[in-house]
Amino acid sequence: MKYTVLTLFPEIVDAFFNTSIMAKAIERGVISYRSINIRDYATDKHHKCDDAPYGGGAGMLMLPEPMGRALEAAGAVKKTQTDLETVAAETATPGQAKKRRVIYLSPSGRLFNQTMARELAAEEELILLCGRYEGIDQRIIDTYVDEEISIGDYVLSSGEVSALVLIDATYRLVDGVISAESLEEESFSDGLLEYPQYTRPEIYDKLRVPEVLLSGHHEQIRRWRLKKRVEKTLLVRPDLIQKGLEAGWFSAETRKLIVELQDTAGLKGDTDERN
Ligand code: SAH
Repeated sequence: MKYTVLTLFPEIVDAFFNTSIMAKAIERGVISYRSINIRDYATDKHHKCDDAPYGGGAGMLMLPEPMGRALEAAGAVKKTQTDLETVAAETATPGQAKKRRVIYLSPSGRLFNQTMARELAAEEELILLCGRYEGIDQRIIDTYVDEEISIGDYVLSSGEVSALVLIDATYRLVDGVISAESLEEESFSDGLLEYPQYTRPEIYDKLRVPEVLLSGHHEQIRRWRLKKRVEKTLLVRPDLIQKGLEAGWFSAETRKLIVELQDTAGLKGDTDERN
């Protein structure tokens, strides 16, 4: 997977790529990355990148011209070109062309989630466009952007943090970055949140690690963890239980636990209400 990030503040994004698991993934060649400073594509002497919106209103908008040039430099292709032209432009062997997906991080986008993270992790290259100020000129979206993605129903001051959220959620799903086993039991991997976890010491501030985890009994541990996952999800995210039941995500064992726990602990949630 290759990430290309277009931003006015590459130093924010670069720091992430130089850290921890990501740095190792880059070293091993599983992930590659480049940041492009949009300001480098402003041609006037002040490297101006923003201006007032037509029609009035508060704040400034990012200028389309530097952004368009930066996108071209990143290899983004205008949407008016057909896929076939794209293939021809990139390589003489159709079907082997690198697919680049251009994403604009925006509060008006589709709401990001784990399913989208999995989809995006399978792409060859993501070009991520970070906005600032009041956002970007619609013509950039119309010309280059394949998809607008929002990381939540709130407004941030900039797209860099959103791009990092998307990058962090996707790169760890790329084959070879972290073990398949670690991914299997995570929150959302199968519609349930994660079970509680404990490490040394056995007693911390008078609180003991649950006995079952010290038992060495794998089947009991598995059942305890599943029960905890169902309990927690019923309590804090009944919407996920409802969605999982409707989509047929859960095993017979999980479904049985859902019914039992709803009855015994009064964890009714609103699983039978559609919202
Ligand atoms: N005027 C815009 C907000 C612009 S915020 C509006 O009302 O919708 C400036 C930049 O921050 C945006 O261009 C976008 O790149 C980023 N941003 C803000 N909130 C975001 C969110 N929830 N998800 C993704 N990006 C966001």
